[in-house]
Amino acid sequence: ISAEDFTAKTVERINQIDDKVHAFLDVNSDAVERARQIDKKIKSGENVGGCFGMPISIKDNICIKDSRTSCASKMLHDFIAPYDATVISKLKAQDAVFIGKANMDEFAMGLTTEFSAYGPTHNPWNLDCVPGGSSGGSGASVGALECVASLGSDTGGSVRNPASFCGIVGYKPTYGLISRFGLISYANSIEQIGPMTRTVKDTAFLLDIISGQDPNDDTTISNSNQNYLSGIDAGIEGKKIGIIQEMIGDGIDPAVLSATKNAVSKFEGLGATCEYVSLDMVKYSVAAYYTITATEAGSNLARYDNLLYGYDFPVEGYEFNSYISKARTKFGPEVTRRMILGGFVPSAGHAGKYFLKALKVKQKLTREITELFKKYDYLIAPTVPILPFKIGEKIDDPIALFLVDINTVTANLTGIPAISVPFDVSDGLPIGMQIMANTMEDKSLLQAAFALE
Ligand code: GLN
Repeated sequence: ISAEDFTAKTVERINQIDDKVHAFLDVNSDAVERARQIDKKIKSGENVGGCFGMPISIKDNICIKDSRTSCASKMLHDFIAPYDATVISKLKAQDAVFIGKANMDEFAMGLTTEFSAYGPTHNPWNLDCVPGGSSGGSGASVGALECVASLGSDTGGSVRNPASFCGIVGYKPTYGLISRFGLISYANSIEQIGPMTRTVKDTAFLLDIISGQDPNDDTTISNSNQNYLSGIDAGIEGKKIGIIQEMIGDGIDPAVLSATKNAVSKFEGLGATCEYVSLDMVKYSVAAYYTITATEAGSNLARYDNLLYGYDFPVEGYEFNSYISKARTKFGPEVTRRMILGGFVPSAGHAGKYFLKALKVKQKLTREITELFKKYDYLIAPTVPILPFKIGEKIDDPIALFLVDINTVTANLTGIPAISVPFDVSDGLPIGMQIMANTMEDKSLLQAAFALE
């Protein structure tokens, strides 16, 4: 099949089903033409990049030059990115086709995609359910066969959570492995762009393309030109795996628990040894995560003041405070909550009680996990302790929503790589298993994920 035909079929599929799924905020009208150009290159014997016209959706907080990048917010409803994110330039160089911008929770805050200012995305497995989030449009677009792969961003689980809920693979790399240049920041000290694909091999393939040090992002690290795809079938014989007890405790859905036990049996069948381990700080991780991320969000979102970005209204008749309050009313409820929290927790008189304590939890959690990785090659837990739930079911209970992140935030707070692999189905809804490895052990992590797949 030619790149053009494949892309045309993909667009046809989007036209057929996306009014039900609503994975996309914008579909790229040039996609088929771009694929035609790639076909031309192939025919004329020119060098063609490894993606060969692969249609990829991109979360709407990653900049593609000359495309709208709204972060699913009214605040950026008309923001046209003036440059490409590094991941986008790298994919362009490999002849990927960007099929469209994927829906998300506004500014990546949330885990259901219900906080998009442009309406929720539906889970392709059951349209009444949430697709997870915040990269829910990315997850649903891959799960609903509206593209081959997607890029999401993961601050506290936003790649892995929708991957789990949409029955696909979602990968959060070691912090610094993938450039964040061109990713609109939410909590930049812990977030990463990550591939969302149907297979672990596709994830390794994309990681080979998009990872590596970037002069435009000083937090990137060298990956010594690792090839993640080669040797992916190395297996896990003789490996030691810890099952994190605190991540399968109270409130876990019985189907998710039994899937976890089956995953353990599968790993054992493949020659690994598994035992239960304790990661004590997990019980404070969600509180620490929301304290740290709200603080960073507070400063990252301070730029949306209606001067450089935003929307127009006449400044006459306002003094500073009323002007800023009016400018900020364009944010949705979740972003507003985070900004209020982000102003409070690091403020004078409160920082010691909240922000500094959260940093201590982060440090202790990192110490605990480093200790565990002296004994174990991998740590596992279900990606999300519950099954995809109905749209609207938890939207009025922010704390209940926060707690759904319990199994994913650890990897962000400690910088380690983590992957969600689709493992089981219960009541027609998918269950993802999460595997974590030590910092920079991304290659070995992908081997374990491939073994489990
Ligand atoms: N649910 C988490 C939050 O709202 C994770 C979001 C993310 O990873 N971007 O912050």
